[in-house]
Amino acid sequence: MSTNSEAPEKGKDFIRQIIDRDLEDGKYGNRVHTRFPPEPNGYLHIGHAKAICLNFGVARDYQGDCNLRFDDTNPVKEDTEYVDSIKQDVSWLGFDWTNQCYASDYFEKFYAAAELFIKHGKAYVDDLNAEEIREYRGTLKEPGKNSPYRDRSVEENLSLFRAMRAGEFKDGEHVLRARIDMSAPNVMLRDPALYRIKHAHHHRTGDAWCIYPMYDFAHCLSDHFEGITHSICTLEFENNRPLYDWVLDTLIAIQAEGDANADQIALTTGGGKAPAQRPYQFEAARLNITGTVLSKRKLIQLVQEGHVKGWDDPRMPTISGFRRRGFTPESIRDFCERIGIAKSNSMVEYALLEHCVRQDLNNRSPRYLGVIDPVKLVIENYPEDQEDVFEMPLHPEDESMGKRKVPFTRELWIEREDFMEDAPRKFFRLSPGREVRLRFAYYVTCTGFDKDENGRITEIRATYDPATKGGWSQDGRKVKGTLHWVSAKYGRRAEVRLYDGLFTTENPNAVEEGKTFLDYLNPDSETVLAECYLEPALAEVEPGAHVQFERKGYFCADIRDHKPDGTPVFNRTATLRDTWAKIQKQSK
Ligand code: ATP
Ligand code: MG
Repeated sequence: MSTNSEAPEKGKDFIRQIIDRDLEDGKYGNRVHTRFPPEPNGYLHIGHAKAICLNFGVARDYQGDCNLRFDDTNPVKEDTEYVDSIKQDVSWLGFDWTNQCYASDYFEKFYAAAELFIKHGKAYVDDLNAEEIREYRGTLKEPGKNSPYRDRSVEENLSLFRAMRAGEFKDGEHVLRARIDMSAPNVMLRDPALYRIKHAHHHRTGDAWCIYPMYDFAHCLSDHFEGITHSICTLEFENNRPLYDWVLDTLIAIQAEGDANADQIALTTGGGKAPAQRPYQFEAARLNITGTVLSKRKLIQLVQEGHVKGWDDPRMPTISGFRRRGFTPESIRDFCERIGIAKSNSMVEYALLEHCVRQDLNNRSPRYLGVIDPVKLVIENYPEDQEDVFEMPLHPEDESMGKRKVPFTRELWIEREDFMEDAPRKFFRLSPGREVRLRFAYYVTCTGFDKDENGRITEIRATYDPATKGGWSQDGRKVKGTLHWVSAKYGRRAEVRLYDGLFTTENPNAVEEGKTFLDYLNPDSETVLAECYLEPALAEVEPGAHVQFERKGYFCADIRDHKPDGTPVFNRTATLRDTWAKIQKQSK
């Protein structure tokens, strides 16, 4: 760590620079305690992964702690299904939490704090309805005006607030507001709501409550109760920061006056009185990536309206979607590290995330042969009753992965796009009269082909050179192209799912007038290929296995549908770079 607080260690993000300074100042002793506070109202997305890597990463780097806290103060939209998925996703990303907490665990304490605020004239019950409150609030240019109910007596406020809790009012009839300043330049400080009436069943507390605290009241208090030191959120909350500070400073000031009831609001961690230093909020940029939406509201809509096949659809930018698509935790952590922590929002290219997963999969994926758009190749001079078995390395650079056996027969499947009737000079694949290598097997020369009435190739014929066994010629004859292949006799039929962007625009958040993000859905985002052929060893991998189909890309055996002894099902995680496509593009 740097010893000069003026010159923080180079290359550290601004959050870690602040923590270094706080540690040097002894602000929290040696403690660093962060939290990741999702609302359990949806599945986590890649933006959350960034917040997870930051909060848990800080805790790891400073040998501190990080809580997983469910911010469950909005009963209507929350559900235990989401709680379970969030825990699974955080664990899968490779992080352990110190404490698993729920804001709903603090409902009694929030309530006690609210009564304290009332008793000290810092909060009042308002009868204005939502619309009136908005009118009274004023604008950025105009100050607001006081509610006619702002100066109720403490006794009246207390009895009304207790009646709110007792269920004597309907939703919206009253609200508890902070008494701050209706002419504050920051609109957030114009007597914000602290509690609202909501007759709704809560996934943990059931029907025990019909009043629920607002985010600005519950969040800072939760941080405080848990002994959090650095509370990191996204930039939209910058204007809420003075309110975060006001709530905690007001509570601490009341406690310092020695109010007997203040003891009720003991800390969860550490116990006893409030610590010398309370938590502070810091804002970091929100992650946006090209070609997708990262808002739970929109993601829920995609799922509920059936535009995708669930939260873990491989096209979804959710953590569970990426997992099912075949992304690894390592690649997502690498991505989050590369994008860093900034103070201004920006749009990150999806290509960067793909780059990270390619790098990781390149190292870890065993190679196999799989033909996803098959056409038959018949080797005319290969005897019907002959068979070869070739041993091929699972990874070209990593011998420790071992080898697998691949059967070779007279009839094979090859990729339809690897044949061209009238091929240009630079087409280094099969075409009448041209010779290519079949990967690790033989050189073959195309001798003919058949077409159906639509001009579609139905069969290709070739001869092989037995002297090239293993894929190398003894006379030094070179071929430019190497094709992958699968024995038609032993190949396993499989389903392969290819994915493209879910949207047809770089930024589905910025839509033309009169349109919604749904108008930009890509109708071709998923292609299901039902007749693909795999070498036997590839069909037998376990669900979730990461593999490379040579020349075709990185794939993942589907976690739900892949059956090694039934129908194998693979999802394409990412393509490999295709030089042919590049040449085609350049020549256009
Ligand atoms: P959404 O708008 O998608 O509902 P949210 O911020 O309301 O997102 P929460 O469950 O409240 O979702 O978020 C939990 C944590 O994750 C918060 O600390 C939030 O700041 C962080 N977070 C959410 N989305 C992003 C994002 N796109 N980039 C970085 N951090 C994010
Ligand atoms: Mg939220």
